[in-house]
Amino acid sequence: MADGAAGAILQVDLGAIVGNWRLLCARHRSGAVAGVVKANAYGLGAARVAQALLAAGCRHFFTATLEEALALRPHLRRETEGGAMLAVLSGLTPGTEAVYRAQELIPVLGAAEEIALWQGFARQTGARQPAILHVDTGMARLGLSPAEVAALAGDPGRLEGIALRYVMTHLVAAEIAADPMNRIQRQRFAAACAALPVASRSFANSSGIFLGADFASDLARPGAALYGINPTPDAPNPMRRTVRLIARVQQVRTIPPGTPVGYNATWKAARESRIATVALGYADGWHRSRAGTTLAFFDGRAVPLVGRISMDLTTFDVTEHPAITPGTWLELLGTGRDPDAVAAASGSNGYEVLTSLAPRIQRQYLGQ
Ligand SMILES: *Cc1c(COP(=O)(O)O)cnc(C)c1O
Repeated sequence: MADGAAGAILQVDLGAIVGNWRLLCARHRSGAVAGVVKANAYGLGAARVAQALLAAGCRHFFTATLEEALALRPHLRRETEGGAMLAVLSGLTPGTEAVYRAQELIPVLGAAEEIALWQGFARQTGARQPAILHVDTGMARLGLSPAEVAALAGDPGRLEGIALRYVMTHLVAAEIAADPMNRIQRQRFAAACAALPVASRSFANSSGIFLGADFASDLARPGAALYGINPTPDAPNPMRRTVRLIARVQQVRTIPPGTPVGYNATWKAARESRIATVALGYADGWHRSRAGTTLAFFDGRAVPLVGRISMDLTTFDVTEHPAITPGTWLELLGTGRDPDAVAAASGSNGYEVLTSLAPRIQRQYLGQ
């Protein structure tokens, strides 16, 4: 099941990710469905995920940062070579323009300064440069404000030399279908698009795809749902599970009643107990604050964590599980508990559970 050197393994089902992408395509018939692979494809591994999606027909990808896009570029054929569009969400930084062009990356321009920068570069190179224009409709984070959109609409020369691939915006509460922000953002986006030069539109994230036809566009940008996070938290998860996290039992010891376990002796054995020490800790992204809520699973049965989570190790009470011995693998994420459930138990969200998983956890790919 797992190789001997690793302490913890994240098994990633690329077939399930592709299946999720196809399901999202079936729900977003108005246009294409991109793959958002920022933060190393939410911790699962951007290169492998992007290659699997490309092979399935996905032709648009987004990273958060230029560094992420540069790391992915060698693994993802360029659009002009029959591959895919690769765009960077975080905006254009002065001095990076030539890198974008050389690596065929598309900047998402979200401020007047960034537009001016890209236009200056287009002028200097004497070639139209592609870009995505980001308008803010409620996040107040990145994107042109309504005033900036109006200023741009009144002076279209400021977009000269820029080949607008898409105008995009980002929903703030799409996972809550009844949130009035959804309707407000839809109206603001329509108004912004009407004022700007005609371009394709990119609107919905994962949850937005499930808000229905009003939120459809030429390009949806799902991330979370591809990786199995529930885009409709008030209803059963329509997505397939994509990950399983397992960690290896290093040692098992029997301790007498009254013996404390771990830092600060926060837990004491009430009876003679078997304690399994597992090779996963907060440096693996299994946060210390989850100590009170973490369960592992073995043979489909829950195994309680006891004591504090250490940097590299955690301890489980396996008194009820005589079959657990050194070398046994316990499941932290999988059929027993998905990232959403871990998140709900510890005051987080599934996105954070996945993106926290550290690089030192070995990734193993299945289904491709
Ligand atoms: C992260 C992100 C997405 C993907 O959102 P999900 O909720 O993971 O589907 C789409 N667009 C932008 C601008 C983002 O930052």
